[in-house]
Amino acid sequence: MELSERQVKIVQIVKDRGPITGEQIADLLNLTRATLRPDLAILTMSGILEARPRVGYYYNSRSGNTLVARAIGKLRVKDIKSLAIVVRESASVYDAVVTMFTEDVGTLSVVDGEGYLVGIVSRKDLLKIAIGGGDVQKMPIGMVMTRMPNIVTITPDDTVYLAARRLISHQIDALPVVRTYVMPNGEERLEVVGRLTKTNITRLFVELGDGEN
Ligand code: ADP
Repeated sequence: MELSERQVKIVQIVKDRGPITGEQIADLLNLTRATLRPDLAILTMSGILEARPRVGYYYNSRSGNTLVARAIGKLRVKDIKSLAIVVRESASVYDAVVTMFTEDVGTLSVVDGEGYLVGIVSRKDLLKIAIGGGDVQKMPIGMVMTRMPNIVTITPDDTVYLAARRLISHQIDALPVVRTYVMPNGEERLEVVGRLTKTNITRLFVELGDGEN
């Protein structure tokens, strides 16, 4: 939530002198109580200030956290995701390494001939092959990837909070953002429509901190 200049002043006064009455805040700002009423209403409704009858306004020190919690609980994966970077499962390990360099990513989604998700490959998966001495030109990426159904995914309408929780709980760097298609035979296939990485979360973290730091 973006506070107006006057609302920021009010919060500062309440932080410094609270509990303080609306009357006293108005005096300090050389304004009338009536002028301040809408600002005080916004600040109490958003949880930044608390009001107690006959005591006055005081600052809710947990409100900073509450506002961040609300922001990440409301933002959707589709608001912050990056483009999908995919390779075919028939592509070689060599091709996958080249794609990681050219696209500047650390995780690739692997798709079948029809473009549906079949696996995921990370930097360490490729390093394993490199130290194992395999023929990276010949070996298909399908042999080294982590495969379905063990892929942790997220959908565009899930919250950013859920995505961050999945990254942490599964100790991975990226989630394919997927849409589910049900085939005529009832089988479910996943189309990759993006990727959600720790970088997206870090960028959001910086945006939430902008202006305050
Ligand atoms: P790094 O290779 O840099 O450690 P990760 O921590 O993301 O990257 O990957 C660790 C392992 O988890 C790899 O074997 C990778 O294939 C697998 N992995 C990565 N992302 C996912 C995902 N979304 N779902 C399931 N497994 C994944």
